[in-house]
Amino acid sequence: MNSVKIETSSPGETSRLGRYLAQSLKGGDILCLCGDLGSGKTTFTKGIADGLKIDQKKVVSPTFVLMNTYQGKWPLYHFDFYRLEDPKEIAAIGYDEFLYGQGVAVVEWAERFGALMPPENLEIRFFDSGEEKRVVEFIPHGDRYRELLREFQK
Ligand code: ADP
Ligand code: MG
Repeated sequence: MNSVKIETSSPGETSRLGRYLAQSLKGGDILCLCGDLGSGKTTFTKGIADGLKIDQKKVVSPTFVLMNTYQGKWPLYHFDFYRLEDPKEIAAIGYDEFLYGQGVAVVEWAERFGALMPPENLEIRFFDSGEEKRVVEFIPHGDRYRELLREFQK
C-alpha cells in the first residue's frame, strides 16, 4: 500500500489525528515517528495518549530517560531518542521488552534506531510545511500496519 499524507493546520489538528489513530491501535503496535525538532511528534503522541484514555498533560518528551510508560486502554511506551548518542544505549535500557511487549510503543526520533529498527512498524514522518502547517505521512511496514492504515482511512 502507498503512503498516506495528511496536512494539519494547527497543533490541535495534529493531536486529533493521533487521537483518531489511537482508536485502531492494539497492544504490540509500534509507531516510529521521524522528523525534525518542532515538527509535531510529541503533539501527535499526546493525542494518542488522549485516545488511549491517558491524561495527556502527563505526557512530556522523555528526553533524559529515553522512555516513559503510561497506563491506559493499552500501556503506552513513549520513547524519545533525541539525546541518544549511540544505539547501544537503547539496548542498555532493555528496550525490547517494551517494544515487543503488550503495549503500544511510540518512538520519537526513530531514525536513530539504526540496526535496532523494528522490521515491522508504522512509520510516521512529520514535515514543517509553513507556520502552523505540518504534513504527516504514514508509511506501513508489514501486514499489520497496512491493515491499521486501512482502518485509519475509513
Ligand atoms: P517534536 O516533538 O517533533 O519536537 P512538538 O510536538 O514538541 O514537536 O512541537 C511542535 C511545535 O510546533 C509546538 O510548539 C506546536 O505548538 C507547534 N505547531 C504549530 N503548528 C503545528 C501543527 N500543525 N501540528 C503540530 N504542532 C504544531
Ligand atoms: Mg518531541
